[in-house]
Amino acid sequence: MKLFLSLLFFVFCTSILSSGEKRGAVAFTFDDYHGPRWLKADAIFKKYNAHATFFIVGGLSKEKLDTMKKLQQMGHSIGLHSLRHRDVYTPKTGKLHREYFEKEVKAQYDLCKKEKISVCSFAYPNNRRNAASDQLLFPHFDYLRAGLGKEKKMIFYPLVKLEKKMMLGGQGLGKYYKTDPVQVKLLMEQAAKSNSLIVFFSHDIRPDAPGISMPAELLEELLAHAAKLNMNVIGFNEISALRKKYGKAKK
Ligand SMILES: [Zn+2]
Repeated sequence: MKLFLSLLFFVFCTSILSSGEKRGAVAFTFDDYHGPRWLKADAIFKKYNAHATFFIVGGLSKEKLDTMKKLQQMGHSIGLHSLRHRDVYTPKTGKLHREYFEKEVKAQYDLCKKEKISVCSFAYPNNRRNAASDQLLFPHFDYLRAGLGKEKKMIFYPLVKLEKKMMLGGQGLGKYYKTDPVQVKLLMEQAAKSNSLIVFFSHDIRPDAPGISMPAELLEELLAHAAKLNMNVIGFNEISALRKKYGKAKK
């Protein structure tokens, strides 16, 4: 009986894999605010049934809120990126700004709540963070995003080990970051193979974008590659669903 059950389980698992269950996940994130061009870029995401996360900086005007709502309706995630793009600690001294949430984030946070914009994540301005700043912000957010730190080595987060609260480090994409599409595609393949989540960040999205922004052609190339690899391409609001599907929270 035991053997029969294990055999049944094996057949069940293989059938899931061969039925094409997605493996690995990639989260493209975009910081600051480039509302009109982000809305335009949705056509590229839509083509590949993919979603992104947009981390918003600054005060939230009606126009900005409308754009955020539109992005949310398109299936993307909205995250916060502070009011004035200030560091959470003083780089020279390492001194943590204990009032950071109240002074730099709360106004955005409360308005999103009021306007029914679902926010579960925050991207650190200038990618500056430490363990103490994570503890300061985790009561308000499930997922925090920064860069890769000094090592600049891609971090792979196995989907079976996703937690309810996580700080996720990502790699910058764009000319400033000297992005090599071949290298990025290899990272994606590694993530698919190891069934892990990888995170990228950029800013604006437009054709032949310079500097720290995402060239639209590169975005399309990477989304096509994710589709080929049958990967999940998700916004941060979808991480909890991934956690339930693949990870510890699985029923
Ligand atoms: Zn920023």
